[in-house]
Amino acid sequence: MREGGDRIELILSTEIVKADLASKTLTSAAGAIFTYDILIIATGSTVINLSDFGTPGADANNIFYMREIDDADKLVAAIQAKKNGKAVIVGGGYIGLELSAAMKINNFDVTMVYPEPWCMPRLFTPEIAAFYESDYANKGVKIDKGTLVVGFDSDTNGDVTSVKLKDGRALAADIVIVGVGGRPLTKLFKGQVEEEKGGIRTDAFFQTSVGGVYAVGDVATFPLKLYNETRRVEHVDHARKSAEQAVKAIKAIEEGKVTDDYDYLPYFYSRSFDLSWQFYGDNVGETVIFGDNDPASSKPKFGSYWIKEGKLLGAFLEGGSPEENTAIAKLARLQPAVPDLEQLTKEGLTFASKI
Ligand SMILES: Cc1cc2nc3c(=O)[nH]c(=O)nc-3n(C[C@H](O)[C@H](O)[C@H](O)COP(=O)(O)OP(=O)(O)OC[C@H]3O[C@@H](n4cnc5c(N)ncnc54)[C@H](O)[C@@H]3O)c2cc1C
Repeated sequence: MREGGDRIELILSTEIVKADLASKTLTSAAGAIFTYDILIIATGSTVINLSDFGTPGADANNIFYMREIDDADKLVAAIQAKKNGKAVIVGGGYIGLELSAAMKINNFDVTMVYPEPWCMPRLFTPEIAAFYESDYANKGVKIDKGTLVVGFDSDTNGDVTSVKLKDGRALAADIVIVGVGGRPLTKLFKGQVEEEKGGIRTDAFFQTSVGGVYAVGDVATFPLKLYNETRRVEHVDHARKSAEQAVKAIKAIEEGKVTDDYDYLPYFYSRSFDLSWQFYGDNVGETVIFGDNDPASSKPKFGSYWIKEGKLLGAFLEGGSPEENTAIAKLARLQPAVPDLEQLTKEGLTFASKI
């Protein structure tokens, strides 16, 4: 940060290409040198590109990734150029599910491809995934599970024409969208700060192993007090709250005060088509499902709880009202004892309203 009292100076279109934490200097691509007293690393993530794995043909035109506004603008231009065409979506996570819905809404013939046995396996149970997969199928999205994309064919203009699958088949494609995950951008600081679980290790105030250097958002591996373990979280809610915590801690040090430890409740959400879900807590242990999870229902509304060692640790809700979402968040925070799983299934959301 440049000197300037309480002012915030915003310097756009400037990439930092070198960080030297020992001399507290940052160097930009244009050669400008910035010095600082306090450094906050908030470099976020970058997408994992299929070219990184050497997937043949992955550099064809009309294969898109989704990270920057620019990526979205390019996709919109392709949607207009390839009207009513075929789209293949690689990956069954957040990007895969949200972009499949967006392409279907834009009248594309959509096929999703992912290697796992069900979508969003890092969070969804098979029962939760079955609902979304059936709902997507009802809306005309085709799903090719359990197979990998191994390459792409393109025409003489270099435009992608088909997606080759490991099982030997090929899917015709005018547009391909790849959502196979992200990677935290920590390379500027490699060897200069301690790392853990793929991110930069911090304390409960987001200070790294180097005094005066903080890391927040996607790049931070921080102590998750609620579960007594360190985690890295790639979500907006944590990005905002971790930044706030770091600034509070920096101000507190200046003023000789003490800040409370960061005490984050994991929170994830997604919206696609007319669906909207929220999840709070930890998805570990046994699960129960409750409510109406029939994809044929006119207004399905269902949820799932995760229970470990007799305590409710995680709560998921599709189609909840703001009050109901607040109620499941409270459950995940308070971790009430669950005496009987069968009873819990029957009670469903009523259990949340009692706490
Ligand atoms: C398509 C998409 C959809 C998403 N949807 C959701 C959602 O619905 N809900 C949700 O909770 N989360 C969502 N996420 C995740 C969420 O966007 C991230 O967790 C969040 O943006 C992380 O914030 P951050 O500040 O750590 O990093 P970022 O928002 O990634 O910001 C990092 C910034 O640092 C800059 N930077 C990086 N390296 C350098 C350098 N060397 N020099 C200078 N500047 C640099 C980048 O250009 C960027 O401006 C989504 C992510 C993507 C890609």
